[in-house]
Amino acid sequence: KKYLEECSERKKLYNEVIELKGNIRVFCRCRPLKQDEIANGSTSVVEFDSSQENELQITCSDSSRKQFKFDHVFRPEDNQEAIFAQTLPIVTSVLDGYNVCIFAYGQTGTGKTYTMEGTPENRGVNYRTLDELFRISNERSSIMRYELSVSMLEVYNEKIRDLLVENSNQPVKKLEIKQSAEGTQEVPGLVEARVYGTEEVWSLLALGSRVRSVGSTNANELSSRSHCLLRVTVMGENLVSEQRTRSQLWLVDLAGSERVGRIEVEGDRLKESQFINKSLSALGDVISALASKTSHVPYRNSKLTHMLQSSLGGDCKTLMFVQISPNAADLGETLCSLNFASRVRGVEHGPARRQT
Ligand code: ADP
Repeated sequence: KKYLEECSERKKLYNEVIELKGNIRVFCRCRPLKQDEIANGSTSVVEFDSSQENELQITCSDSSRKQFKFDHVFRPEDNQEAIFAQTLPIVTSVLDGYNVCIFAYGQTGTGKTYTMEGTPENRGVNYRTLDELFRISNERSSIMRYELSVSMLEVYNEKIRDLLVENSNQPVKKLEIKQSAEGTQEVPGLVEARVYGTEEVWSLLALGSRVRSVGSTNANELSSRSHCLLRVTVMGENLVSEQRTRSQLWLVDLAGSERVGRIEVEGDRLKESQFINKSLSALGDVISALASKTSHVPYRNSKLTHMLQSSLGGDCKTLMFVQISPNAADLGETLCSLNFASRVRGVEHGPARRQT
């Protein structure tokens, strides 16, 4: 009974927050300058205001300053724990029956994979989330029974590839998005692996990364040009009321948002960059349509948004990390990413406050 009361209290609180702020959040994360950048004498163009947790300022090449505001701004010194502390309430709401999508957006090399995957010493959002989902489901085991399963896929040139299928001798199965009888988007044939503990997830994620890199001459380069999606499906059963829920959490490491140089713009690279542009702008259009509560939301403009349709909008929760580099040499891309994220959130940036 106490648990049911807690649930309804949480739902009430959550609905109040939605009324006030909407269910789309944008967090900005600025990575530290790298050793080689410091050695080259690179300087940072990003400044933070010690009293404002959600603002940053960029010094442009003409010395003018631009200010940007997000739901939270993480600084170079903020570690993975600090990032996860802010992300935790959003990701764990999948256990309360909400659909959730988390994206990492930004130029290649700004820390998208670091935020989502992390390193063995500094685990990112994906690992910490699954740890926490298992911990909470154990804690609630006298009231709720949860079943968790995991899928991992890649979208490259508008083609979907299952990353949990190892046998590379077999022809790659063509995966398409289909609408289920309940009206949700499904990918028939996609492996959905039932998982019972964190260790198992670790090995599945390692398999996914291995499969992702097979067949590419330069794994890092390829991964920066495809979207990598981890899907956690949660089936919940309330042992008291026998009510059942099915919800999904998507953890998405997007393709690099950088514009390609003119010299490279031909052949395969041109095709790739057109597909990336198309899907990233489709994603931006969908989120900004949802943020401004427009009646038509253009989900069908890319595989990415079409596949995520059931988990974007309605009372689903969306979080975008916009990743930036502090390096003056990346200024152009940094401004593009910040403008994109501001547009997505439906908030325009203003001129910087006057310095006193
Ligand atoms: P992306 O996925 O955007 O291409 P990566 O996550 O691969 O970028 O990051 C590029 C490099 O910068 C990696 O070596 C990563 O470990 C490092 N890095 C990124 N963000 C941080 C951070 N906040 N703190 C420490 N190192 C970081």
